[in-house]
Amino acid sequence: MDNRTFRNAMGKFATGVTVITTDIDGEVHGMTANAFMSVSLNPPLILISIDEKAKMLSKIKKSGCFSVNILSEEQQEVSMLFAGQSSDKENVSFEKRNGNSVIKESLANIICTVYGSQVAGDHTLFIGEVEDVIFRDGKPLAFYEGKYSRLTTPQLT
Ligand code: FAD
Ligand code: NAD
Repeated sequence: MDNRTFRNAMGKFATGVTVITTDIDGEVHGMTANAFMSVSLNPPLILISIDEKAKMLSKIKKSGCFSVNILSEEQQEVSMLFAGQSSDKENVSFEKRNGNSVIKESLANIICTVYGSQVAGDHTLFIGEVEDVIFRDGKPLAFYEGKYSRLTTPQLT
């Protein structure tokens, strides 16, 4: 199986889109990620997966904390910025929450400390213990078959 076949198959799993942020040396670094899941309720744990080539990897190792910003359908440009697909920084602004920078106008901000990590192939899985959350109404930005997408209404019941 080649990489394209694997990615095409994984692309059949529709996801939301997040931007991971972490603060290091007084600066915030962001990276778009769709490898995100809820893990445990007690304690509240989530999981992200970071490529060994991503700058984000060493930054989370150093900071020991990160936030997951779940993007709304109005935030495709924000996703593109933090995936290196756009250089337009006008669409993003940060606010501080418990000393962590989170992206304003996101559907949710999930503020975590690193609970554990596991190298898995060419990625590192970080389990985050959730310290705080912010969330609001809105519709999510979606990612399906390697393309951005939106939820259509009406939703199934
Ligand atoms: P860089 O590539 O240097 O930074 C990313 C971009 O963010 C750059 O353009 C940079 O200018 C900008 N940026 C960073 N901080 C700021 C700031 N403070 N203000 C303004 N701009 C800033 N990769 C994974 O490892 N795991 C995933 O789950 C994953 N999911 C993805 C899902 C989607 C839908 C897409 C499109 C990409 C995904 N990627 C994922 C790939 C990942 O987003 C890119 O490889 C990314 O460029 C890696 O970022 P980096 O940490 O190496 O930093
Ligand atoms: P794509 O067709 O590469 O993505 C489809 C699916 O394949 C993704 O949702 C993800 O589940 C999987 N995937 C893609 N690249 C992966 C990787 N390096 N490691 C593990 N799983 C991966 O979509 P695209 O529009 O070509 O992606 C844009 C860029 O973002 C590409 O460079 C891609 O590698 C990267 N990306 C990385 C991940 C990741 O987990 N590291 C996830 C999504 C996209």
